[in-house]
Parts: sequence; C-alpha cells; structure tokens
Amino acid sequence: MGATRIVLLGAPGAGKGTQAARIIEALDIPHISTGDMLRAAVAAGTEIGLKAKAVMDAGQLVSDEIVIGIARERLSEPDASKGFVLDGFPRTLDQAAALDGILEEIGSPVECCLAITVETEEVVQRLLKRAELEGRADDNEETIRERMRVYDAQTAPLLEYYGEKGMVKEVLGMGSIDSVSVSLMSALEAA
Ligand code: ADP
Repeated sequence: MGATRIVLLGAPGAGKGTQAARIIEALDIPHISTGDMLRAAVAAGTEIGLKAKAVMDAGQLVSDEIVIGIARERLSEPDASKGFVLDGFPRTLDQAAALDGILEEIGSPVECCLAITVETEEVVQRLLKRAELEGRADDNEETIRERMRVYDAQTAPLLEYYGEKGMVKEVLGMGSIDSVSVSLMSALEAA
C-alpha cells in the first residue's frame, strides 16, 4: 500500500516544500509545514507570530513548546487521520519524541522518514536565488549559513533516531524536480 504518515527531512533548500506539494497531490493527504504556519502567524500578527519573528529572522529555532503546540493542534484536525506529510517538523530530538507521543494518542505512528539529501553549496545557491524571487526575510547568506548550522546540529540527528526504527528512506535531491519526485514516490511505495 505504501506509507501515508510521512516525515520529510532535509536541509533548508533541499526542496521539501516543492516535493511535499507533489506527494500530497498524489496521495491526497494534507501538507503540514510548521514553517508555513509560523510565517502565517507572523503575517497575522498573532501572539505566536510576535514571539517567533525575531528567532526565525535570525535563522534559529522557534521554541519546542510553540512548535509542538502548533503541530499537535494541526494533527488533531480530521483531515490528518488519512495521513500527512510533515515538513519542517520535527526539527529536534525533543520534537520527535513529542510527535511520537501525540501520534500514540491517536494510534497512528509515523510510517516513513523521507530524507532528501543535497550538497551544502548547492542549497545555499538555491536559497540565494529564492531570496531574489520571493524575498523571504530569512533568505540572506548569513542567515542561510546559520540555518545550515542549526540543521546539522539539531535536526540531522533525527536521521539516526528514525534510522534506528528502520524508517529512513534517503533520496538524492540533486536532479530535476520531476526526477526527485519519481524517486520519492517509489521510496514511499516501498516503505
Ligand atoms: P527551511 O526551508 O529553511 O527549512 P522552514 O520554512 O521549514 O524553512 O522554516 C523556517 C523557520 O521557521 C526556521 O528557520 C525556524 O526558525 C522556524 N521553524 C519552522 N519549523 C520549526 C520547528 N519544527 N522547530 C523550530 N523552529 C521551526
């Protein structure tokens, strides 16, 4: 049948958002991106948005408490019962443990961790290009490098966390968008 409860892992610029859009369309499940939800909170000027803005602009992580709360709320919505692509969450080992707890309550554990791997210099270039096109506040070179450091230190250990559970499927994210999504879909079918 293939997995439908999916954690998408990859450095900033690896293409998680782009590929998540393809996967949710193919599998008809929701895309849950904590980055998108936080940017929406910033734009709406909510209390969470006010707390998160400076941290995000500096390329650092919003507190586990805030993002776990956001994820818990979103995962409890009815459409998440058919599966989900989590993009940008979990990003720390504590978030991963919290996610396991949330899903245990619902009785629907993570089935697959899809890891998109890319070379650092390639993703820095991609993000600098996105900065020109979209003007995201955290897409400047200094902040991009900080986000990479944060990824290596705090998020990359999740590969081991899910690896120990036998859930990781690694896919090279260096080709065209189409060829990467073909690889991702076949990894999911085999999961
Ligand atoms: P990227 O493509 O750079 O990985 P995202 O859109 O996923 O970007 O996230 C942008 C920013 O939002 C992060 O740099 C971080 O400040 C914040 N953020 C998103 N998800 C999380 C999370 N799970 N934990 C902490 N901070 C998060």
